[in-house]
Amino acid sequence: AESWQGVPLAPPDSIFKLTATYKADTFPNKVNLGVGAYRDDNNKPWVLPVIKKATKILLNDETLDHEYLPITGLPEFTSAAAKLILGSSSPAIQENRAVSVQTISGTGANHLGALFLSRFYSWGDAPKRVYLSKPTWANHQAIFKNVGIEPVDYPYYDPKTIGLDYSGFIGALESAPARSVFLLHACAHNPTGVDPTAEQWAAIAEVFLKKNHYAFFDCAYQGFASGDLDKDAAAVRYFVDKGVALLVCQSFAKNAGLYGERVGALHLVSKTKDAADRVKSQMSVLQRSEISNPPSHGARLVSLILNDGGLFEEWKADIRTMAGRIIDMRKELYRLLTEELKTPGNWDHIVNQIGMFSFTGISEAQSKALTEKAHIYLTTNGRISMAGLNGSNVRYFAENLDKVVR
Ligand code: PLP
Repeated sequence: AESWQGVPLAPPDSIFKLTATYKADTFPNKVNLGVGAYRDDNNKPWVLPVIKKATKILLNDETLDHEYLPITGLPEFTSAAAKLILGSSSPAIQENRAVSVQTISGTGANHLGALFLSRFYSWGDAPKRVYLSKPTWANHQAIFKNVGIEPVDYPYYDPKTIGLDYSGFIGALESAPARSVFLLHACAHNPTGVDPTAEQWAAIAEVFLKKNHYAFFDCAYQGFASGDLDKDAAAVRYFVDKGVALLVCQSFAKNAGLYGERVGALHLVSKTKDAADRVKSQMSVLQRSEISNPPSHGARLVSLILNDGGLFEEWKADIRTMAGRIIDMRKELYRLLTEELKTPGNWDHIVNQIGMFSFTGISEAQSKALTEKAHIYLTTNGRISMAGLNGSNVRYFAENLDKVVR
């Protein structure tokens, strides 16, 4: 009988391993800066007040049952989700050119988008390739490899400036073969926190048009970056307006605090309604073979919030609370380093970067020293989750960061 002895042992996921080591540490002032989830000022997970309210409404709704959703998801969720990311007056929506499918959060949207491209993109004789920013969310590589698309890097982050390698990025777009697929983080780039400016996005879109490239947008942090849902969707909307061929992966894990509910959507914008109908029919076939139909509870919660003016306003206030706390932590860390501790080096990037994550620019050895000497847990690339900082630990972190860079 099959013994499975030949199965190679895979290494544990590095982020989840970091969390386990943090949990096992008994040091009272330990700090977890690896976490990719929002924490409040008491370092606790935060259930958004609007989600609590929507949950109660669902609980009291006697008309709800536990039947299957349609294969492509809850229609009132997917249509409202499309408006949220593309804008309610988007030409793609008005002309019925946008295909929207409910997915297993952002990861599922990335997977379905990648699978669909793998099957139906006109690759011609070109190898199936996707260009990913260097660095990117670690799961991107695995997701594309799983469907037979080879990930290749494009320059993105410049360690010298701790900012965007803009000319490297543009150069890669210019020199890639026409019709290449490029993955773009819509806002709050993970892991660097470095986003192109509006002017840079415009220039990037121009090269996409010139080279006929395909934009595979991943949007996991809408609203979470700036605190404003529309502002964080600006790049996607600009690309749609300019007519760049694209799809968008959308997650409600972070902006609605629904990590475990797995609420997301994939939106593909095509040129015509006829093409959109064809695309949707094939996405249904793919979805059917993989998950049959998506889960209902989280989609109902988000649908309720997106389709009710009052709840929508409450949600926006909750988003501002989260984004605001993170921005405050950036400011406080910056103030401590530059004014109080006079830490050597330039720390402007702490306040210039955006979203949950910040690339501090410290080395692997310095990152490890923070963990070993101060019980501060972070990935060895120097990335910190701003959500892990709060009023009680930001000074402890700043002082220890100061020590390791001196
Ligand atoms: N894409 C990026 C860039 C992310 O950072 C994440 C989560 O960390 C995701 C997608 C997907 O998250 P989820 O599947 O929980 O929506």
